[in-house]
Amino acid sequence: MSRYALVTGSTSGIGLAVARSLAKNGCAILYNGFAEEHHIAKLKQEFENEYDVRAHYLGADLTNEDDVLNMCEDIKKVTKSGVDILVNNAGFQYVSSVQDFSLDKWNDMIHIMLTTPFILTKHLLPGMLQKGWGRVINISSIHGLVASKEKSAYVSAKHGVLGFTKVVALETAGTGVTCNAICPGWVATELFWKQVKSIAKNTGVSEEEAKRKLVGEKQPSGQTVEEKHIGDFVNFLCSEAANQMTGSTVTMDGGWTAQ
Ligand code: NAD
Repeated sequence: MSRYALVTGSTSGIGLAVARSLAKNGCAILYNGFAEEHHIAKLKQEFENEYDVRAHYLGADLTNEDDVLNMCEDIKKVTKSGVDILVNNAGFQYVSSVQDFSLDKWNDMIHIMLTTPFILTKHLLPGMLQKGWGRVINISSIHGLVASKEKSAYVSAKHGVLGFTKVVALETAGTGVTCNAICPGWVATELFWKQVKSIAKNTGVSEEEAKRKLVGEKQPSGQTVEEKHIGDFVNFLCSEAANQMTGSTVTMDGGWTAQ
């Protein structure tokens, strides 16, 4: 029987690469995120035709508690035995100094990157425990380990989700369920390009130069992390080889935190 994987924020970027990688390995995919209707339909076709797995779109806004709770109910309609793999990936960036940071933005960011992973784990864990197998994988960030200025909500949520990962790992140890976190450095997704464009605009340099500056400043490799490699690593965490890997924080950061 194929496994069901829920990947939040999987209409683009890292989440989409993770969903593709899991689908390639035979998982039915529950995908979520914002996108145009035609893109959502195209993804369903891709999962079903290219990877020959079932795919269901869940359109919840994960900054909204009611939406998240309704999504938990919708999941029960898709799979009675529950989700086997939960990848908490959805997130976004917003940059401002603490004194100017909007409280609404703070609440949305803490919700999507910390509260939503908690709600989803709380609802989906019992099914995994009942089956004696499950994977909770939290996409944190290098900003779960170190800070950058003007990213207070992001850094707080990403640090928080690492603590949450460890608690879930301890509460599930020895059950067949594991919980781990991945901390990528710069990955060239939409979230990254928005920051590059803003630097280029504010400093009057080309986007290529802004990218070089942004990556080179922090990441000794000078190269971005490829989304598909994060997808491959998620698959490794779902393999037997990772049965005893739980509560881990894995960096994929081109050496950022080795400095
Ligand atoms: P992205 O912008 O390409 O993708 C974000 C996904 O989340 C999209 O599918 C989007 O529709 C979805 N999303 C955004 N707001 C949502 C909401 N309110 N409700 C539901 N879905 C929503 O960004 P990405 O770079 O792929 O980021 C994915 C995760 O990886 C985030 O948690 C991010 O913090 C983390 N991350 C990114 C980088 C990077 O450099 N790009 C580095 C480290 C960690």
